[in-house]
Amino acid sequence: MISPVLPSYSRSPLSFERGEGAWLIERDGRRFLDFAAGIAVVSLGHSNPRLVKALTDQAQKLWHTSNLFTVPEQERLAEMLVEHTFADTVFFCNSGTEAGELAVKMARKYRAETGSPERTTILTFEGSFHGRSTTMISAAGSEKLTKGFGPLTPGFRHLPFGDHDALRAAAAEPDVGAIMVEPVQGESGIRPLPDQCLKGLRDLCDEHGLLLIFDEIQCGMGRTGKLFAHEWAGITPDIMMVAKGIGGGYPIGALLATEEVGRVMTPGTHGSTYGGNPLGCAVAAEVMTAMTEEGFLDGVSRKAGHLRQKLEGLVADHPDVFEKVRGSGLMLGLVCKAPNLDVIRAGHAQEIIMAPASDNVVRLLPPLTITEEEITEAVARLDRAASAVEAALAAAE
Ligand SMILES: *Cc1c(COP(=O)(O)O)cnc(C)c1O
Repeated sequence: MISPVLPSYSRSPLSFERGEGAWLIERDGRRFLDFAAGIAVVSLGHSNPRLVKALTDQAQKLWHTSNLFTVPEQERLAEMLVEHTFADTVFFCNSGTEAGELAVKMARKYRAETGSPERTTILTFEGSFHGRSTTMISAAGSEKLTKGFGPLTPGFRHLPFGDHDALRAAAAEPDVGAIMVEPVQGESGIRPLPDQCLKGLRDLCDEHGLLLIFDEIQCGMGRTGKLFAHEWAGITPDIMMVAKGIGGGYPIGALLATEEVGRVMTPGTHGSTYGGNPLGCAVAAEVMTAMTEEGFLDGVSRKAGHLRQKLEGLVADHPDVFEKVRGSGLMLGLVCKAPNLDVIRAGHAQEIIMAPASDNVVRLLPPLTITEEEITEAVARLDRAASAVEAALAAAE
């Protein structure tokens, strides 16, 4: 018999009752270190007192009015995002997928309004992930995401990851209007685009008059030690998708754009019932406040450096389990030799939570508020988990 919850996830039986900072407390009382953070969502830790206060203060005032009215919490959050990014204007929605949907609509509308309506095609990359709606799976294009869900949304051309010649040729095609890319690919196994490539993409877009769309849903919001990952390369996009970490666990997404592009979205062209609601915006404004405080992002980089150093040691100590570490900031991937799901299960036995990704990778995405002591403890747990995987490998031989 089918479960009352749609069987579209293969779930662990672990179930958590409470969270405190980087810790998740299981129903049976065990305390797990959370090195997934809900897949880069719980950016400031579980039950962060500042966010709890922002949410409950707002909950006692006003929950919802609709976008037919001015929403002050929304205006405040938009002003903060504009102040700290390339963007001139922001639309709020409820998830990353919704931000991506608007990115595609906006890019095409911009073409329609600026005399090149034939330039509807958007270039995307192999291994990318942009969400689960029909258009977003069409954008990513992998069989894993799209099989059985056709007909797909037309207008995406998928390029091999890292093939500069293919990219150069595709960008010159007359039907192409934009490039959409994750500065650090998440789902495909934490694959950062080198700064040189991001700069090259910007140059290519400028050369051919293309819009550059960054999907910073996973790699943004402080994760790499800058507020947004592309800042490391010293370039800016025209459009950017944001979600996950911006809400710290409250569902909210945002689509940021320059004035030049955003102005085509005139009244009536897009909307959302819940997007930009006072609750989500109050929480996200507190997340933005915390992340832009003096020293916060430097702290992320410092802790990331220590974690990475310790992980290099872990990989060296367990060459049969791990191949290497890759990633940026607190968005790290352990490329495994043993099956990644075995490593994750062994982690559960040692009371540490990690997230799988493609390419046999284990993702480490702790809350950005993780402490040095917690990092040390996590690596000790990982070391025991890796030893258990080694023992199992030896027993199977
Ligand atoms: C999670 C994710 C999405 C989709 O976001 P949802 O909130 O699940 O709709 C899109 N792009 C990237 C890079 C993501 O990591």
